[in-house]
Amino acid sequence: MNTSPKILLVYTGGTIGMIKNFETGALIPFNFDELLLKIPELKQLDCQISTISFDKPIDSSDMDVVRWKELGDIINGTYDMYDGFVVLHGSDTMSYTASAVSFMFENLSKPIIFTGSQLPIGDLRTDAKENLITALQIAALQEKGMPVVTEVGLYFEYKLLRANRTTKVNAEHFEAFQSSNYPALIESGVHLKVNESYLYKVEGNQKMIYHTHFDNRIVIVKMFPGINENILKSIFSSDLLKGIIIETYGAGNTTTQKWFLEVISDLIKKGVAIVNVTQCIGGSVDMGKYDTSVSLKEIGVISGKDITTEAALAKLMYLLGENLSLKVLKTIYETPLRGEMLEN
Ligand code: ASP
Repeated sequence: MNTSPKILLVYTGGTIGMIKNFETGALIPFNFDELLLKIPELKQLDCQISTISFDKPIDSSDMDVVRWKELGDIINGTYDMYDGFVVLHGSDTMSYTASAVSFMFENLSKPIIFTGSQLPIGDLRTDAKENLITALQIAALQEKGMPVVTEVGLYFEYKLLRANRTTKVNAEHFEAFQSSNYPALIESGVHLKVNESYLYKVEGNQKMIYHTHFDNRIVIVKMFPGINENILKSIFSSDLLKGIIIETYGAGNTTTQKWFLEVISDLIKKGVAIVNVTQCIGGSVDMGKYDTSVSLKEIGVISGKDITTEAALAKLMYLLGENLSLKVLKTIYETPLRGEMLEN
């Protein structure tokens, strides 16, 4: 009997799974049932690979909460049958989906590794093969029969990063993702270097809980000098709005103009959750550090600390979906749930 780890490879779409139609020159999705035929190197891996594909693979720009659930359902429905999961996903919104999946699976005890590529798998200079092969190796990595990684990771260009700490930063380089506020979990050189102390571990032997409800009645607003009062008020006037993420300057600063603070304060009084995340690629929100953020703290704006915008969005949709009071939501939001932000 083959006792090597069983891995489910899920194809959602994106460049990685495309091949060129040499007649038209267009990229078309590749038939994943033929994966082992097209990449015979996979046979050398010490794991058993099964594949499943979205009925209609998509460019990740078309990802939405319905498809997040479609993906979550595939993993949840086969959770006990596999030792690990690799998700092939377009790189454009991979950090959003992978962050959302990290909130979907509470007390995860198996690896869910996202990967993709900048060039299609059939391309001569493709980065897809290395990304796919090493992502599978990482998903199959075990120590004393237990998976080494028990969180949602994103593998790209020789690094496994905590997925909910990542941002796509480059549309050209093979090194497309960055995790400025958290170190790499695994580095791939001649050997796989596992940075044990950075891996996320759930305390005790807790049962996995699957969450599926994301409330997408939210908006992201980026602060910029000259932001227009009437336009902002008109965006914020929708009664549907349940949450707002404000991408602020530096350590969480915004304009101190009276109209702006009044709008924010009124929205919070109406029960809208407002989260402060920095538009900087690294570092943390620290409301109260500068005079320009003291009022935000006083009126009850939620601190996103060092969270990425991608994870902030997924966390807000997830917590709004849990139907909490604004006070409880604020407390939970400011607490790390899956290693997505610092403790204090
Ligand atoms: N536009 C593609 C996508 O995100 C790019 C990629 O696959 O990397 O689906």
